[in-house]
Amino acid sequence: MIMNNKIIVNILGCGTSAGVPSIISGWGSVDKNNPKNHRLRCVITMKTHDSHILVDCGPDLKQQLFEYSQNNNLDFDAIFLTHQHADHIHGIDELRWVCTRNNRDLKVYASKSIFDSIIKRFEYAFTPLPKGVDFYFKPVLQPIEIKDKIKINNSEFIVIEQHHGKIKSYGYRYKDFAYCTDVVDFDDTEFEKLKGVKTLIIDCLRIQEHKTHAHLEKVKYWVSKLNPDMAYLTHMDNTMDYEDLLNQLPDNIRPAYDGLEITV
Ligand SMILES: [Zn+2]
Ligand SMILES: [Zn+2]
Repeated sequence: MIMNNKIIVNILGCGTSAGVPSIISGWGSVDKNNPKNHRLRCVITMKTHDSHILVDCGPDLKQQLFEYSQNNNLDFDAIFLTHQHADHIHGIDELRWVCTRNNRDLKVYASKSIFDSIIKRFEYAFTPLPKGVDFYFKPVLQPIEIKDKIKINNSEFIVIEQHHGKIKSYGYRYKDFAYCTDVVDFDDTEFEKLKGVKTLIIDCLRIQEHKTHAHLEKVKYWVSKLNPDMAYLTHMDNTMDYEDLLNQLPDNIRPAYDGLEITV
């Protein structure tokens, strides 16, 4: 039973697009013996008193949903997408099993530009089942375009538009919690929407600056402006060692890790 103003967030992946380890640079400079440095591609779930949301469907989704389903059911009301990059979308076929589990199509919330990109790439998943077919041999997704807010049952989520290189990505806020991955900058009006958050999950690719992702100094600056109780770093690459970071970060910033559950 979740109280009205609470949210439970599960981090199923907090790795960069290559994951950690990556195919070509392996473990980089992280300690591979620490499981907190094993990072699948970015996916989270959010549970409020009356809604259950999956955010993104990257290439590791099968493993993530299998592990999550050991302690949670997969009765998602909707999936929210942050943007169209492959590391956030290319597990889309696994949503077939969510449709099968719930025996219904899955509602997908995203911007027009995200749909323009992914419906072209995955048209089959946005096509209804043929007449007379009563089982999900593929995912069936119903696209719903986002505006400023999304209402799922009686839970209201605020949509935050973010700069992510050449494209826009989207963050999502529910009461005192916000999730902002794949972001290099915010317009002032969008940053305003994050004021007052107590728990923030924020993109932090690496220590060095990057063109499309926030780096550690930038995250520290944002955190100093927002002053949340806790900011968790996500989308980290294989230079971001968990223990090293923990030792050098201020008290209200911590690296996330796969399997972390947060109640806000
Ligand atoms: Zn990404
Ligand atoms: Zn991206």
